[in-house]
Amino acid sequence: VDDEVATGGTGKASRHGLDDILQEFESWCSSVNLELSPKVVLSEDGLVDRYGLQAVENISEGEVLFSVPRDALLSSVTTSISQVLEKEAASLKSQSGWVALIVALMYEFTCPNSRWKPYLALCPEPDQLDLPMFWPEEERKRLLRGTGVPEAVHLDLENIELEFNSVVQPFLAAHPTLFDSKQHTLNLYKRMVAFVMAYSFQEPLEEEDEDEKDPNPPIMVPMADILNHVSNHNANLEFTKDCLKMISTRPIAKGEEVYNTYGDLANWQLLHMYGFVEPHPANNNDAAEIQMTTLYKAALQVFGESRKQLVEKKWKVLCEMLLVGEEGAFVIGREGVLTEEELYAALKVLCMSEDELEDYQENEGWEEDDAADESLTNEAIVELHPMWRTLLAESIRLTLAAYGPVQKEDEAMLADPVLSAKLSRRERYALNLRCGQTSILQNLLRLTE
Ligand code: SAM
Repeated sequence: VDDEVATGGTGKASRHGLDDILQEFESWCSSVNLELSPKVVLSEDGLVDRYGLQAVENISEGEVLFSVPRDALLSSVTTSISQVLEKEAASLKSQSGWVALIVALMYEFTCPNSRWKPYLALCPEPDQLDLPMFWPEEERKRLLRGTGVPEAVHLDLENIELEFNSVVQPFLAAHPTLFDSKQHTLNLYKRMVAFVMAYSFQEPLEEEDEDEKDPNPPIMVPMADILNHVSNHNANLEFTKDCLKMISTRPIAKGEEVYNTYGDLANWQLLHMYGFVEPHPANNNDAAEIQMTTLYKAALQVFGESRKQLVEKKWKVLCEMLLVGEEGAFVIGREGVLTEEELYAALKVLCMSEDELEDYQENEGWEEDDAADESLTNEAIVELHPMWRTLLAESIRLTLAAYGPVQKEDEAMLADPVLSAKLSRRERYALNLRCGQTSILQNLLRLTE
């Protein structure tokens, strides 16, 4: 306490140089028996984003950095309104599976004596989180054209309003002692959706349940969610019976930031759900997509008017076999195609003769192909039948065209540190996202030519 400094009303403090919010959170963690290793500290300096965790001593692989007891988690089961949520579980069922947690968060967030108050004080304002769902539509469409993000956000916004109006609003209105319409609005709901999107965790199912059970609902894990993400991460969350443990996955040097992994996510997924991207080319998991319907359009172009009916028939067969669909996309990583089974089958069927198609239909997929033969790695793509490569190349050209005429300028901008320093955060993220995706597509195009 001796070295406490005056905050001057800035909210900045004091004992460890942490701001008040972080310091109250730290005390709360002790009060709920959340154990933090003395080798790490909460921090707000020199990190990739706002708050995070830093090593203050060298750490070896496999060390427990902190452990969170299960009763400190915030979920639809631990919240103080869990009984109401459980009683009305049927009416709170929704497509996303998130509604019960979001309603719990709306309640706890506005409850003056919530058990999680010091934790919820860390919930970012919409402008801090800056997910594309909060960007003006015009900016989203302009900066993210071709990337797939505007379409994904459009769908989210539609679903958010639908779930709020059809499920949440009636529930809130039926519980006027817990909720009031002035405070518990669609705007607060959206803020909590964003909080869940960017901060929640999902406990993996046991292996034997993977095919049968629905995924677990999301939960909030205090302290684990203060960690930032990079693809080259150094820690990972493990779920055990009594607690959740953050474990180092490789040595972490004193002074380094501790990074969790939010999953093997491409930059478009990071921007969509978390509001940031890794600078191109740092993201090892970066990927681009070719809409399945774009391959269909490419086939119509490549095979021409005379074979239009046959292409339509082939596409119908692929749709019926659930190998392709209107909304689906083929995913391309840096080392090759990630959705190999679907793209391989689509190229094969689209390039078949009519007789082969009949055989294929009769045998519901022909003979079992050897999985090794179905490879679409970069090495395998060069060896594909020329017609398959022509078809793939055309679908890549169509996909690249959707980004608009910005590709050359993008590359020049990214290569010029003075120019890119002038960009806003949104512009910088969008530029890195576009460059990552178009470079993957350009590379694949080269392999098909
Ligand atoms: N830093 C967050 C905070 O201060 O509350 C805690 C991590 S929270 C789980 C996830 C958010 O942190 C993301 O939505 C993004 O805003 C930010 N973030 C995480 N990793 C990042 C990174 N590598 N670069 C930039 N921002 C990052």
